[in-house]
Amino acid sequence: MHALRAQGFSPVLIERHTLGGAQTLAAQGILHGGMKYVLDGKVDDIALKLREMPPRWLESIAGRGEVDLSGTQILSENQYLWSDGSLLSKLSGAMGAKMLRGDVSALPEENWPVAFRDLGYRGSVRALEETIIDVRSALVALSKPLAGRLFRADEIIPQTVGETVTTLELRVTDSSTCRLRPRFVVATAGAGNEAFAAALPFPQPATQRRPLRQIMVRGVPHKLYGHCIIADPKPRVTVTSHTTQDGTPVWYLGGNIAEKSWQMSEEEAFKFAVNELAAIFPKQDWTQYEYAAWDGDRAEPHQNVRFMPSEPTVTVLGNCALAWPTKLVFAPGLASKITREVAARIQPCLAPELPLPLAVVGTYPWDHAKWNSR
Ligand SMILES: Cc1cc2nc3c(=O)[nH]c(=O)nc-3n(C[C@H](O)[C@H](O)[C@H](O)COP(=O)(O)OP(=O)(O)OC[C@H]3O[C@@H](n4cnc5c(N)ncnc54)[C@H](O)[C@@H]3O)c2cc1C
Repeated sequence: MHALRAQGFSPVLIERHTLGGAQTLAAQGILHGGMKYVLDGKVDDIALKLREMPPRWLESIAGRGEVDLSGTQILSENQYLWSDGSLLSKLSGAMGAKMLRGDVSALPEENWPVAFRDLGYRGSVRALEETIIDVRSALVALSKPLAGRLFRADEIIPQTVGETVTTLELRVTDSSTCRLRPRFVVATAGAGNEAFAAALPFPQPATQRRPLRQIMVRGVPHKLYGHCIIADPKPRVTVTSHTTQDGTPVWYLGGNIAEKSWQMSEEEAFKFAVNELAAIFPKQDWTQYEYAAWDGDRAEPHQNVRFMPSEPTVTVLGNCALAWPTKLVFAPGLASKITREVAARIQPCLAPELPLPLAVVGTYPWDHAKWNSR
């Protein structure tokens, strides 16, 4: 919306629940520079495309960029890669020169984040210059200048003539329905793009969903950000550290723990997480903490092989575009692509006031989780 406004457009956003309330607030907040995607030693397309994104975010967070994100809280300026020494040195030797601008040599033990020593980790640790942000604070900063333009409706029903969406019927339960005559519609509804596309009378691009179950561990006092590397393209675990609204620290676990545990019962998934953590950090009793799960889908445009698309995607159908960032860090790239598509098709015009409730920023999974003791 900011990018469109900068070109003179006056877009409105219609959200069904809360802003960021699906995948975005469940993200780990890592501004990937591509490293995670070269863990198998190959530098591929996505890694090279990702490299361009963090500088755009960091300029905006510094208040000098295309959008003012200066209210965004930075959780960590580095993330860490840890594994047995031989694996990491092979890895950084293979692609470090091509991929990484920063120094990824092994850290002397006295420079390790305190968590590694306190939790009994043995192996090698490298620091990566990849920033982790508090996603909700970025959403608050993004939405602030858009006050009065972000609306909520329980249902959006498109009506079409030929290949043109002529009307969007916006329904709010227990309230009146209003109608909007859009010049152009951009669907950035994540998993909701599928249903929106199905309501259109044109051939639809297929969507793929990749399920995962993130595990949350409440009470771990140490802060840690990064990937535990194994001989697999996915990390054994990706750890980020967050804080609940009442100030309790939470570890949020992705990587292979999340990829594997969605096929298990919740109880099995918690046991799997406890065992993995105990194997990596043996000095800690991992049964002393509480565990919870966030189950979700990564919703993306369909790929021939069931991997993540390598870039943000915009598919134009009539006067609609279906858009997926693919990764949070790709949001600036997606904004540029959408703006190019819209500007190529319509002239700026004023959007009407809408008699709808305003949308608000949602909450993190750890602030509405059901916690389980071990
Ligand atoms: C567990 C997890 C961790 C991740 N970690 C990272 C990370 O560390 N770094 C990174 O770069 N990326 C990460 N990602 C990827 C990133 O979160 C997503 O690519 C990105 O957030 C997708 O944004 P989106 O706006 O397309 O979708 P969503 O965040 O899912 O938002 C879609 C919105 O559309 C609304 N909606 C749905 N249907 C309708 C409808 N019919 N009408 C109106 N509104 C509707 C929903 O309520 C929601 O608010 C992660 C993803 C997951 C799942």
